[in-house]
Amino acid sequence: MSYVITIDGPAGAGKSTVAKDVAKALGIKYLDTGAIYRAISLILHESEIKPVDDEIMREALSDIDIQLQGKAVLVNGFDVAGEIRTPAVDELSSKYSAIPSVRKALLSLQKEQENHGSIVAEGRDVGSVVFPNAKVKFFLTASPEARAKRRYDERVAKGQSADYDEILRSIIERDKNDSTREISPLTIPEGAIYLDTSDMTEQEAVQKILDKVKEAIPDETK
Ligand code: C5P
Repeated sequence: MSYVITIDGPAGAGKSTVAKDVAKALGIKYLDTGAIYRAISLILHESEIKPVDDEIMREALSDIDIQLQGKAVLVNGFDVAGEIRTPAVDELSSKYSAIPSVRKALLSLQKEQENHGSIVAEGRDVGSVVFPNAKVKFFLTASPEARAKRRYDERVAKGQSADYDEILRSIIERDKNDSTREISPLTIPEGAIYLDTSDMTEQEAVQKILDKVKEAIPDETK
């Protein structure tokens, strides 16, 4: 029997790395819903469609086809996965994802991933809206300072330029946008296990999640 595990939480809580490792340990697929929001936001921005008018946005979205193929995020057939992890797209995605027609257009694409086997889905509303019947739900968070420090370290490790204060400002602004938007705001899904990872290593967070999953669904994870 296939199953879904959801991991929601704010920007920089370590969801992606943790979700990837959990999926690998369980031998199931990883669904990065943020990548889908990032891809659509980049394309809408490049098409000069501003995140203000829901109606105009709806028309534009009807011409955009998004597909996931492994690590690739195909927008109208072009893989944009390499272009979506930038500070500019961080901010764009936070704005475009607050528009109801954008969320609506991406909902079925996310939901249908469940039909291809078990998944660990990671995002902002995967436990509350996309997969409300998920077997095990987590809410992963950490203090804004801890999250900014991780993003800073990640960028430095990749050889990118990084400014801690600017990263912290962007994280606080994204938290505000994601939690106060009218549609699908970032909330702790009902029944979700709350994990504050401020003082945890990535491996500790992964282990904690795996322990909880194995305890909750022993038969599926034998
Ligand atoms: O998780 P990631 O930082 O890649 O997500 C980028 C942005 O996409 C978030 O700041 C959020 O605004 C939006 N998002 C969302 N719902 C999701 C996943 C991401 O609104 N399920």
